[in-house]
Amino acid sequence: MSGEIAVRSWVETANAPGGAFGIGNLPYGVFRRAPGKERPRIGVAIGDRILDLRVMAHAGFLRGLGEGLEAACLAQELNGLMALGGGEQRRLRERLRVLLEEGAREEAVLRATPGAFCGQREAEMLAPARIGDYTDFYASVDHATRVGRLFRPENPLLPNYKWVPIAYHGRASSIVVSGTPVRRPCGQLPGDPPLYTASRALDYELELGLFIGPGNELGETIPLGEAEEHVFGFCLVNDWSARDIQRWEYQPLGPFLGKNFATTISPWVVTMEALEAYRVPAAERAAGDPAPLPYLSGPAGLGRDAFDITLEVAIETERMRELGMAPARVCQANTRDLYWTPAQMVTHHASNGCNLRPGDLLATGTVSGPGDESRGCLLEITGGGEPLLLPDGETRRYLEDGDEVILTGYAERPGLERIGFGECRGRVVR
Ligand code: MN
Repeated sequence: MSGEIAVRSWVETANAPGGAFGIGNLPYGVFRRAPGKERPRIGVAIGDRILDLRVMAHAGFLRGLGEGLEAACLAQELNGLMALGGGEQRRLRERLRVLLEEGAREEAVLRATPGAFCGQREAEMLAPARIGDYTDFYASVDHATRVGRLFRPENPLLPNYKWVPIAYHGRASSIVVSGTPVRRPCGQLPGDPPLYTASRALDYELELGLFIGPGNELGETIPLGEAEEHVFGFCLVNDWSARDIQRWEYQPLGPFLGKNFATTISPWVVTMEALEAYRVPAAERAAGDPAPLPYLSGPAGLGRDAFDITLEVAIETERMRELGMAPARVCQANTRDLYWTPAQMVTHHASNGCNLRPGDLLATGTVSGPGDESRGCLLEITGGGEPLLLPDGETRRYLEDGDEVILTGYAERPGLERIGFGECRGRVVR
């Protein structure tokens, strides 16, 4: 079920049915060919290739788009592009489409331009942006309810949940790109007395990340109807969590060292424009739930849109790798089930005058759904009962050393081009 591809690319691999990076996607990332040596550059994924925007700018393919835009394409991170408004971003996207679509006038010249493309397999992907700040929301009511039930069976959802988008400030310095090993953290584990040792309850969290575009000045707010103009695009986020450290430290101020030892993001940033066809009305609120306050409400389509993005988690243990087994899918969820939309998160974050800056990362919080197959972390899957059974017979309550967690995401619907997010991988090491 890949959908028909209305526009084809002369880059043949972009037209593969079910592929992640067709010409309707064109996500941005930062890469280099020679690990550790070459200067990082901005690229655009197309099929199994990367179009090198640095080479494109130098070879004159971006001429006429404006100096600001060309300069932003020559940078070593996406912040400059993110800072530009939607109009300029759309102009660049349109130019890239024209260059890459089937029958493009420039095909022969582009093919002959040295270094215009790099195979994705030959590239080292880097963090796409200089992330100044990272905030993690708690936007899935299904996640909040399941987790709340473990701690407060009689009162799983706290009364503020349906009024105020809950979040904590994460740490930007420990955000790493897909493929970076994640060291099992040490910390204080609950006990009498507590013990400082390696976490025994390491978990993943399946999340969608939002990269901030232009943002707001300190003291200014972002009205809901304008909030999406401040979202540059989306990536996958694994908010690794040490549940034992978290359980002991989280009261009264919230998550700290149980969360900030590592956060993994996928390297490709899928733009808002690429997901235009996958807007859906925000999930219907349950009967009796309050309507959002006026600053978080608006006419349909103005900040009330959710996105129909499927997110999945797969686990591959060391033993499964030795046996040559495929990673086992343990979750499939969809961001359309979230209680708060991306626009509401942006507007709420700036509602006190807090400034959001280009390249800041907001994440949705664990994306779960109502069904058992859509539980986005191990705490939800195993916290209340049986361990998780993997296809090779192993069981897991939490992650073991050597386990690799693989997040994937995509939007697809019959008749529409599939938009893939690629992967967000991380292996637990000691
Ligand atoms: Mn989280």
